[in-house]
Amino acid sequence: MTPEEFRHAGHALIDWIADYRSDLEKRPVRAQVGPGEVAASFAAEAPRAPQTAAQLLTELDEKIVPGITQVQHPMHFGWFPSNASLASTLGDIASSGLGTLGISWESCPAATELEQVVCDWMRQLTGLSGNWQGCIQDTASTACLTALLLARERASDFAQNRGGLHGEQRALIVYTTDEAHSSVVKAALLAGFGELNLRRVAMDPHSRSMLAPGLAQQITDDIKAGFKPAAVVASVGSTGVTAFDPVAEIAEIATQHGLWLHVDAAMAGSAMLLPECRHLWQGVEAADSISWNPHKWMGTILDCSLMYVRDVEHLVRVMSTNPSYLRSTVDDEVLQYRDWGIPLGRRFRALKLWYHLSIDGIDAIRSRLRRDLDNARWFAEQVAATPDWQVLAPVSLQTVCIRHQPADLDDEALDRHTLAWVHSINQSGTAFMSPSILNDRWMVRVSIGVEATTRKHVEALWQLIQQQVQQGAE
Ligand code: PLP
Repeated sequence: MTPEEFRHAGHALIDWIADYRSDLEKRPVRAQVGPGEVAASFAAEAPRAPQTAAQLLTELDEKIVPGITQVQHPMHFGWFPSNASLASTLGDIASSGLGTLGISWESCPAATELEQVVCDWMRQLTGLSGNWQGCIQDTASTACLTALLLARERASDFAQNRGGLHGEQRALIVYTTDEAHSSVVKAALLAGFGELNLRRVAMDPHSRSMLAPGLAQQITDDIKAGFKPAAVVASVGSTGVTAFDPVAEIAEIATQHGLWLHVDAAMAGSAMLLPECRHLWQGVEAADSISWNPHKWMGTILDCSLMYVRDVEHLVRVMSTNPSYLRSTVDDEVLQYRDWGIPLGRRFRALKLWYHLSIDGIDAIRSRLRRDLDNARWFAEQVAATPDWQVLAPVSLQTVCIRHQPADLDDEALDRHTLAWVHSINQSGTAFMSPSILNDRWMVRVSIGVEATTRKHVEALWQLIQQQVQQGAE
């Protein structure tokens, strides 16, 4: 494809995207395909004869779009918001178009330096002190894995330079709770700690936040038993019920025992753009690493996960390899992001954050977040005020955990009832929510915060839910 052909096809693609986004509300929220259907619509072998870009647009419409669960749809209330603001989409397109290679400062100075700039902008916008330096990882999962590698090497006095996993006699222990995201468990396993050395600390039964005295006790018990406590992962806005672990108390205990403290604020980091929410991670300055995803509620198109550390020297010592073919004459003066994480080749992700912040602007982003908080409060009030309905966990941000609980149902019938009404709505395509298990019983998470979702949509959802429950009873 020549640049001229690209210009022509690109304009058509941008028009197609603009139409797609503006018509999104007319589409079903949930993908309308069964397993294998999308794959079966393609030939078993790659096309020999070239196709035109116009033909591919038709195939996008016919084969791809039906296979998409529309997370940008205003009636999408599932999982967590995964906003992809159009301003940031432009930045992502610019990144692809530039085709840069991010393997060293020298291979693309602009990518390194814009990343430094936007990470520092974001640090300031979330109220973090100048003690933190950040980078953009692909996901919070990668950030958590990186953090636990840093923890492992600190606790084992750089066992990677000796016998690796065999370099430390005592088993290294990681602490978190059952509320932590599955990526925390995955990171602990991949970093070599082992399931047996992953402690789930007791939680407050209502808020599901970690009980700091429980953590202190568990650490003491582990030390007595000959283990070596290494890391705590605190959830700031858990996926299940948006639980907030008490970071300040945890940090004090972690500091006292020399543990690495990683704060997983994948979702709730967006809320820290609002000064009135920052009490929710009070004490965060004493953590060792933080990650959060602008690619969730804030709306910088996936993938864009910020990771901040205080001790960059330690980070680089653990993650750097520095082969001769990547060295340059300016190495002493520049930052090499390849030494901040796992991949060598990095995308120019800073462009999408820069576009998002510059075109949409922080004031508009903040007022959208406040709108969503307000909508969640309204929704929770309606549910709580309606007979037989319950709000099951504190509504600290934009996710409301609910259940319809008529008195005459035993536990198993209640589960069947919950899954029946939520699946009917999800399958109908009119709205989408995530059923999830809380204390062994099904409930429904209503996660408000899609960019296009206004009060009108939240009201429509509440109507729809009540109608569905009513119909099920008839
Ligand atoms: N942590 C929390 C609290 C999350 O909610 C999620 C995803 O929803 C993750 C981590 C993982 O995020 P990612 O998909 O960026 O790896």
